[in-house]
Amino acid sequence: MGRYDQSIATHKDACRYLPGGVSSNFRYHPIPVPLCFVRGEGAYLWDVDDNRYIDYVLGNGPAILGHTPQPVLDAVRKSLDIGQAFTAIHPAELALAKRLTEIIPCAEQVRFDVSGTQADQIALRLARAHTGRTTVIKFEGQYHGWADNILMSVTPALNEAGPVDAPTTVPQSRGQPESATNDVVVQPFNNIEVLEETLSRRGEDIAAILLEPIPCNTGVIEPKPGYLQRLRELCDANGIVLIFDEVITGFRASLGGAQARYGVTPDLAVFAKAVAAGFPISVIAGRAELMNAVTDGVVHGGTYNGLTSTVAACAATVETLAADDGAIYKDMDRRGLRLIDGFNELGRKHGLPLHAQGIGTIFTTVFTEKKPLVNYRDYKSSDEPMRVRFVEELQHRGIRTTVRGTWFMSSPLSDEDIAATLTAADEALAVMRS
Ligand code: PMP
Repeated sequence: MGRYDQSIATHKDACRYLPGGVSSNFRYHPIPVPLCFVRGEGAYLWDVDDNRYIDYVLGNGPAILGHTPQPVLDAVRKSLDIGQAFTAIHPAELALAKRLTEIIPCAEQVRFDVSGTQADQIALRLARAHTGRTTVIKFEGQYHGWADNILMSVTPALNEAGPVDAPTTVPQSRGQPESATNDVVVQPFNNIEVLEETLSRRGEDIAAILLEPIPCNTGVIEPKPGYLQRLRELCDANGIVLIFDEVITGFRASLGGAQARYGVTPDLAVFAKAVAAGFPISVIAGRAELMNAVTDGVVHGGTYNGLTSTVAACAATVETLAADDGAIYKDMDRRGLRLIDGFNELGRKHGLPLHAQGIGTIFTTVFTEKKPLVNYRDYKSSDEPMRVRFVEELQHRGIRTTVRGTWFMSSPLSDEDIAATLTAADEALAVMRS
């Protein structure tokens, strides 16, 4: 019996009915196939072969409270008895909106949606409506959902990406209209000089600067000191709407997201994932002047926006995260920093270029001599086969993390889980060295 026999059989069957055997391209990780999971509880997942994993994928980020957070499940259960979709407003929706405006620095108002992709779309539309401009700046290596108008230069090959200080806008998918690239200017993250030069030529054409304040999709890269502050100034000087995509950093980099952590307030921000511990709700937050445009000709729709169940999940998640003055964050941070230090020590011990960086609640592992990573090109030039091999060897030892090297922390992780993870990494690196 092989360790993954049942997953392999499931995948073979699944490929006949679900193309690729999965429901999102970002789940296709052939190690050796996308595994078939049957159950999650707390920090753990079990696959169909009954292997247990300490889970650092967490559904690609949402499960910040682990897989079966009781306060959230209780709130959702209650909501099931009162009906789901009223197509108006319900009291809990208003209460949640009020609460979020207290927590999120930029939030004078909020709207609810279902996914990060969709929330990013309304943020872009609000910015274009507000400025009367079309062109948007995004940063190389950053992801803002899979819609045609913004799915560009997320993981471009280095031979297609253009000069480092003037990246080419590269569509990420076959089937995207070529014309969509005309409206997007791609910039290198963490390089203020290049952005200043771009804005000196084109500042008056730019509707929005959209960014992950801590890029988490290709490495986990903190902004250089003062970088976000300078972005804020440049947006003000040029009449540009600053949008933080906090789909990952929201309720993870701190309760108030990266904007609270770094003390820089964008005009609009988008939240999803950790905001509702795995339930499908996203939040667009921002200045009333911009947000109110939805009452004045800017269309934002969605049958499933603000369902009673997803609002209940979001409210319970937020209160759990906020409890005891954010004690959950202190624990996750401490444990995450222990992992970052532990991985870097293990790299040295085994003479391998393993490099971990990030903030406690989210970080990355790559194999590179060029550290720290400061932008996408640094991440992309790290050793991808070694990164994937490390993930594979960890998986064989019951540790599940993302193939791109991003590790998400959850509140139920214990000190024993952290120790077990470092032991598994020690063994994995020993095998890789030999
Ligand atoms: N923005 C960022 C920064 C993301 O990481 C993601 C999802 N990984 C999205 C937007 C899209 O969110 P969703 O998958 O909910 O559409």
